Parts: sequence; C-alpha cells; structure tokens
Amino acid sequence: MTPSEVAIKREVLERYGAPACQCCGFIDTTPTYAFLSLAHLANNGKDHRRALLGSNACGLQFYKRLKATGYPADFSMETQCWNCNRGALANHGVCPHRADGG
Ligand SMILES: [Zn+2]
Ligand SMILES: [Zn+2]
Repeated sequence: MTPSEVAIKREVLERYGAPACQCCGFIDTTPTYAFLSLAHLANNGKDHRRALLGSNACGLQFYKRLKATGYPADFSMETQCWNCNRGALANHGVCPHRADGG
C-alpha cells in the first residue's frame, strides 16, 4: 500500500474502533493495522459492498468509498481482528468469543 492508502485504512478503522479489536480487545500496534479488519455485525458485508461499490470488492476500495460517502450508518460495523472476523464467519455470524459458552 502507498502511504496515502495506509492513511485511509487507518482513518477508516479508527472510526470503528482501531487500534483495538472491539470483540476480544486485541491491540494492533502495526503501522498498517495488518491484523485488523472491518466486520459487519449483521453478517451482511457482501450486501454492503454491493450497495456502495456495485461489486463485492473489499479492502481498500471499500474503505475509500466509505470515507467518500461520509461513513453512512445504515450498516453497523466495528473493527475486529482477523481471528474474530473469521471466527464469526465460521460460527453463524457471531464470534465464538461472544457466543454462548464460547
Ligand atoms: Zn479480536
Ligand atoms: Zn472475538
């Protein structure tokens, strides 16, 4: 990523909770927030990306679009580490940290 791309990523993730994962509290100290991502709480990231971009593109393109559109609040999101993001995908949309008995 270029320095300006890193700046956009940091700005977007910080808006949703970085440098801390909002699920497990992990703190990402890397300059690029390499361990963090945006998570859709209703598990509808695909719909959101299509609504904003007209495609399922993710990552930087999605971050740029979020910023350009003033961070619309119609989809609830938070910053999570990849463990939690993937954990939720594998567990019906809820990270095992938050699931009953998880
Ligand atoms: Zn986490
Ligand atoms: Zn978690």
